[in-house]
Amino acid sequence: MEYSKVYLVKGKEIAIQRFHPWIFSGAIARKESNLNDGDIVEVYDNNGKNYLATGYYANGSIAIRILSFEKAIIDVNFWISKISNAYNYRKKLQILNRITNVCRLFFGEGDGASGLILDYYDGNVVLQAHSYGIYLQRENITKALIEVLGNDLKCLYDKSAETLPKNFSQNATNEFLYGKLEHELIVIENGHKFKIDFINGQKTGFFIDQRDNRQLLAHYSKNKTVLNTFSYTGGFSIYAAAAEATRVDSVDVSSPAINLCNQNIELNSLKNHEGFAVDTFEFLKDKKDTYDIIVLDPPAFAKSRDAKHNAVIGYKRLNSMALKLIKKNGILFTFSCSGVVDKYLFYNTITAAAIEAKRNVKLLHYLHQPPDHPVTPYFSEGEYLKGMVLWVE
Ligand code: SAH
Repeated sequence: MEYSKVYLVKGKEIAIQRFHPWIFSGAIARKESNLNDGDIVEVYDNNGKNYLATGYYANGSIAIRILSFEKAIIDVNFWISKISNAYNYRKKLQILNRITNVCRLFFGEGDGASGLILDYYDGNVVLQAHSYGIYLQRENITKALIEVLGNDLKCLYDKSAETLPKNFSQNATNEFLYGKLEHELIVIENGHKFKIDFINGQKTGFFIDQRDNRQLLAHYSKNKTVLNTFSYTGGFSIYAAAAEATRVDSVDVSSPAINLCNQNIELNSLKNHEGFAVDTFEFLKDKKDTYDIIVLDPPAFAKSRDAKHNAVIGYKRLNSMALKLIKKNGILFTFSCSGVVDKYLFYNTITAAAIEAKRNVKLLHYLHQPPDHPVTPYFSEGEYLKGMVLWVE
């Protein structure tokens, strides 16, 4: 198959030779033909002598996203190779095991295909295409998943209407591409049960990226009072309650999330829990009791570079409010999932919050995303989740 060729501005091939998976529009010197969103292209250096990569085109500042650094035909076999590589990596690391049947099966650039997210819930897979180029590959991806997962695949649900760029999301419908959900879905993560509603829930239904960090919270929770803010369906709360926290409060502005959180507490036969469907800032403002442990896991405060400054102010305010409320010798678990707030900026922001709260703190752990959300050294932008655990005196 012949793909359209794109030639880079002289010198711009260096980033590709270092395996960076994006090409910005300013790096393109000329195109062989007019290109539409989603067209597969081959990328060459300026004089056309050296092939660099194969990817797909988009009208926008990121003009090409790389799918392969070696010549490739983007067909079912290509996706079989990509997806089986991702699946085997997770199997080798035993991320899926006897007590965990939920994981991120494919994480965009980290697994070598920018724009593709696949989340695995006990054989039920949710796809989110973050670009039109990936959206156009849905049929190939579906066939590849059937081939790679075999009998393990129960259904595939496409939830891209929420993640595609605006001009494409209007015409996209969330739908099953293979099979359907046979009954209410309950998964297990480190032995804890969670009800998953991937159709109506946020993102793909669950925040899979906090699995290891929840386990760490469990380690500290015995005989402690725990406040889990931005709790969603209670990921952190279930682990804390199961680890014998004396009391767990969950706070989320979404009542369906708190409702599911309460159901998850019941499902795991846990007690000493209360859910509050309120804004975290309001909840913290009026709070007089203090807690031994507070978890702060807000949604991304900054979704773009322009929003970075306000995001930092938001993180500082939130963390300072929580730090003031923590008991002496308590613990703060604090996170940011804003891609544009890098770890150094986040750490500096938390330091500023501790100074403002006038608390002496010690750093217990730096946290980040688990290995099923792989970060490669070639693409540091992929490291979006960062966290800190502080001992608060
Ligand atoms: N910690 C969760 C994931 C958090 S996602 C887990 O482990 O599953 C962020 C959550 O913050 C979402 O559930 C969203 O409903 C909630 N949220 C957003 N703004 C909020 C606010 N101002 N106050 C409380 N919750 C909020």
